This record gives sequence, structure tokens and C-alpha cells, in this order.
Amino acid sequence: MSKVGETTLVLDLLALTHNYNVLRSKIDPDTKFLGVVKAFAYGSDMVAIAKRLEELGADYLAVAYVSEGVLLRESNIKLPILVLHPLASNFDDLIANQLEPSIYSINILNQFLDRAKEKKQTDYPIHIKFNTGLNRLGFSEADVDFIVEKTKENGCIKIKSVFSHLVASEDANERVFSLKQISSFKNISDAMTEKLGYGPIRHMLNTSGIINYPEAQFEMVRSGIGLYGYGNQAEVDAQLQPVATLKTIISQIHEIGLDQSVGYNRAFKATSAIKSATLPIGHADGIGRQYGKGKGFVTINGEKAPIIGNVCMDMIMVDVTKIDCQEGDEAIIFGSEKSAEQLASMANTISYEILTAISQRVKREVLNQ
Ligand SMILES: *Cc1c(COP(=O)(O)O)cnc(C)c1O
Repeated sequence: MSKVGETTLVLDLLALTHNYNVLRSKIDPDTKFLGVVKAFAYGSDMVAIAKRLEELGADYLAVAYVSEGVLLRESNIKLPILVLHPLASNFDDLIANQLEPSIYSINILNQFLDRAKEKKQTDYPIHIKFNTGLNRLGFSEADVDFIVEKTKENGCIKIKSVFSHLVASEDANERVFSLKQISSFKNISDAMTEKLGYGPIRHMLNTSGIINYPEAQFEMVRSGIGLYGYGNQAEVDAQLQPVATLKTIISQIHEIGLDQSVGYNRAFKATSAIKSATLPIGHADGIGRQYGKGKGFVTINGEKAPIIGNVCMDMIMVDVTKIDCQEGDEAIIFGSEKSAEQLASMANTISYEILTAISQRVKREVLNQ
């Protein structure tokens, strides 16, 4: 991997290909695969990732919001795109860009029907989201008749899929609950199929669902974090490769004497002479304050350098007392050597959060495009 001259998120598309193949190998060959590329493809580069997924033969993409889908269409992505959380104020853009809405409530269904009629649509593909326990978005089983009736009396929409989302797919302690969700989804989707007179695509599994409940893959699965190289459990992490490596360089090295302090509010005080290195990455780049005061570390020349003191907006300082290093040397925040999951766990969070937090200020470099 090449040396960087500034803070850079290096994205390896070969790792994406590897992860895609690993995940595909865990499902039936005819099960469709939806790649989740919301939030800039989990903080990476949405367009580069979407293009590669398209080349790899993914069947669908999903984003959270309409604006994300519009960006994909502007970049000439042709795959069908499911918008997981559309809002009525964005329906014009959604239709103009042939994005497919998740319809999750009576209110949003009525609003979408009005707009689709006004725009003289026929058979506009929509996806019906059912709540089976997450209590976040989704219709309940009791809404099935209403949905079917509305769909039948309005030729402007067509139900392309029905789906739901697991609450705790990564948690073996919640297996009973997950199985209940799956059986409830099966009942609901059976009722939908029977009443509609055709069978929409059914999907319920995210990455950990694919790993832990492959029997519930139905006709499609939706994977996000796994594509980026993380599987929420060590055995799965071992089979995947992190797509993103966050790197920076040492801007300056300081000798810190006994009783001197480092950074704002003197949050680090030296109890012996140390050597600190200042790195051009801070909370504005996505390294939150929770990683400061010794919680997180970076890797410099293969050695651990703990973050000392408070994380600043644009900088962190790390302890390099025992590391042979110079200004200009590379520092790795996370990636292939130390995973984002490892760093996240030091601050009591999860890979998803640190990955998606990497701000747009950070340069992206795409390898193996
Ligand atoms: C984000 C999201 C996913 C992807 O989940 P991963 O755990 O990243 O695989 C799947 N489905 C829905 C509804 C989501 O919001």
C-alpha cells in the first residue's frame, strides 16, 4: 500500500470483491444480493463501491435517503436502488431518479400514492416494510388487508418486495426472539402473497443474519457491514478483509518534560519525560473525543501509540516514547493491521460508528479500481 502525504482513507476494492464472494458463498446461488451503500457506503466512497458491486453482479443497492440515491443515479449507476427511509418531501426526486421507496406506514403509502398518481405512474415498484419487533419503521401485520386493497385499486404502484429487519441478528442470546421475528415475517409475507395474487421478493437478513440465520434468506439478503470487511463476530471477521484503511502522517514530534502537559485542558500530564507525536486528524475527521485520554491508539512503524490528552478538532497527540519514528512517518488509525472493530471497542462503540464517522474532509484513495 502506497505512502500517504496527508490523512487518507485508502479503499481496496479487491477486499470488497473478496467480501462479496465470501458472503455470496453463504447463500444459495439463486438468492438475490442487495448491497447496502447508505451513508457514503459506510463512510467509504459510495460511487466507487456501488460501481464495483454492479460489476460483481449484485442485484440491488440500498441507501437510507433519497439524496443518496440521486448521487448514485448522477454517477450512472443502473441497478435498482431501494431507499430505506424516504420522506414525502423527496418523492419528486425519488420518482425522477427511478428510486424505489420502502413504504413503511399508512401515512407514507397514501402520500406516495397521491404523488405517483399525479405523475401518472403505472406499476411503480415499491417495497413494503413490516415491523416484526424493532419498533422503528414498518407496518404491522394488521395492515396487510389495507395495503393489498390500496395496491389493487391503484394501478400506479406494484409491490416488488416485502421485507423486515432483525433486532439482534448478531446476538446468540436473542436467538429465540430472532426466530420469532422470522416466523412472524413468514406469516405476514405468506398472507401478502396470497392476497395480492403474486409473490413479491421477500428479504429479512442483514450481514449477521446471513451468518446466523441462512435458513431465512428467502429470495434476497441485504448486506452492508460484511461487504466492508466486518462481521460482528471474530470468526466472521477472520474470513473478511477490511476495505478501508485510515492513515495519516506525523506532523511534529515533541519532547515532553516531567509535569508538562499535552493538549487542551492539560488532560495529559507527564509523570516522566515522554515523546509525543502530533497527527493531522481530529474529531472533525471522525475520531471522536471518546478515543482520547488513552482509550484509543494508532499504529506507527508497527507499534502501538496511545492517544494522549483530549482529541482536538483537527489533531490528536499520541505517545511515541518507545517508538523509533520521525516527522513524516506514517500512522495507521485502523485498517488491515488493527481493525476498526478493535479501535471502536476501546471506546465502547461498534465498527459501524467509527467507519461512518469518517468525515468528507478526509481524502479517499481507491485502489484496484
Ligand atoms: C443498514 C441496514 C442493513 C445492513 O445491515 P448490516 O448489518 O450492515 O449488514 C440492512 N437492512 C436495513 C433495513 C438496514 O437499515
